[in-house]
Amino acid sequence: MKLGASARMWARDWIRIQLRQGRAFRADLHELLELERLSPEELLRHQTTRLADQLTRAAGHVPYYRRWFETTGLKPADCADPHALTRLPLIDKSTVKAQPGDFRDQDLRLAVRGYTSGTTGSPLVVYRDLAGIVREHAMIWRQRHWLGVAPGDPIAVLRGELVTPIAHTRPPFWRLDRSANELVLSSHHLTSAHLPAYLDILRAFSPVALYAYPSAARELARLVVQSGQAMVPLRAVFTASETLTAADRELIGRAFRAPVVDRYGNAERTLAGGHCEQGSYHLWSDVTLPELIPGLDGEPFELVGTPLYGRAMPLFRYRTGDRAYPAPAPGCPCGRAFPTVASIAGREDPVLLTRDGRPIGRLDHIWKGIRHVAAGQILQEADLTVRLRLIPEPGFSPSDRAELLAQTQERLGKDLPIVIEELAQLPRTAAGKFQAVISLVPEADRSRAQRTYGVEPNTSTSRP
Ligand SMILES: [Zn+2]
Repeated sequence: MKLGASARMWARDWIRIQLRQGRAFRADLHELLELERLSPEELLRHQTTRLADQLTRAAGHVPYYRRWFETTGLKPADCADPHALTRLPLIDKSTVKAQPGDFRDQDLRLAVRGYTSGTTGSPLVVYRDLAGIVREHAMIWRQRHWLGVAPGDPIAVLRGELVTPIAHTRPPFWRLDRSANELVLSSHHLTSAHLPAYLDILRAFSPVALYAYPSAARELARLVVQSGQAMVPLRAVFTASETLTAADRELIGRAFRAPVVDRYGNAERTLAGGHCEQGSYHLWSDVTLPELIPGLDGEPFELVGTPLYGRAMPLFRYRTGDRAYPAPAPGCPCGRAFPTVASIAGREDPVLLTRDGRPIGRLDHIWKGIRHVAAGQILQEADLTVRLRLIPEPGFSPSDRAELLAQTQERLGKDLPIVIEELAQLPRTAAGKFQAVISLVPEADRSRAQRTYGVEPNTSTSRP
């Protein structure tokens, strides 16, 4: 049966409403709010039950795991607790890419296709089942619930969506999504000239929260602070999908006078976490099972995750490539039994190479202390030339340039050409995402350097 355009739209809206407000969603949210109250012992029992269920299904229906259990002679029950799980092999993006069909549940016909993002290499195709998608929504709303935000509350959304053609210079730069009660704002038209229009529509809509890319929230925060105007009062600013730096978190919180609450997840759906209302960054171990694998000398932990729900493409002990810095002390005043990390450093940022082939990672602190820069982006060309793209603020001077150059050379050496470019806007991906670091150096060269040297540790906080 072929659906007409309006019927398709109606069907899409219906699915979206079911995802956000349907009976399955409400049941999942209710269950998650119960799960977060488990004691450590009860949580362990829950994880073990879920693991047994996931492994049993995978052993029956997912070729990679079916073969693995056959070859080793082990039974799902032999691996079904968080400690015994380490009997299973670690896998990563390249394992899955080499044999993508082998990781899909052969019995599940209805699955939604997605892609991993990231700045390097080709994306990985991933599959999710509808029940898993509903649970993910419930997970997002559980975190919102902690900050007093409920389904149906008005929320302003400032993510990558273009909303209106980029050439448009007159409002509206937004659209109202009535089914979700969301005001979806363009992050591409956000300039000081358009700020009054943005603030007017926000006052009229009166959202209780803002859901944004960190880079977009930072831009709005900067314009608000610069203008001296007051932002509508919010219960929280929710960020996700990009690394939220400590500096951005501070600026956004100050501008909006609201807690800034980040969420971590990956397209492979193997790990999830985020801030609680007390400001701790938890790994939500009732929905995904985290493993923290110690890094080499001085390096932070590597995050490995196992989904406790979701059937379409279960990736157990999946190396996310992301790094976590351990929390200074265990536990959190919120009382949840979830583990806590100090911060997570995303894998999205590629390393840069020095002239002698050393990889340098986590470069955000090149910008640290540099005044009169609204936002910056680092790009390395294939010939190793480094371009520092920046949006200057009034007062950006030759001495600021010199300081930026010196800080960059301190990290990357003095033998690389470094070009500082002043731009009105920084380029974004097709999805409107901001990339702090871009490398055009072939992935193979960067991987080789990382295998040879490891990545230089960086103790600056990246996320949250
Ligand atoms: Zn907490």
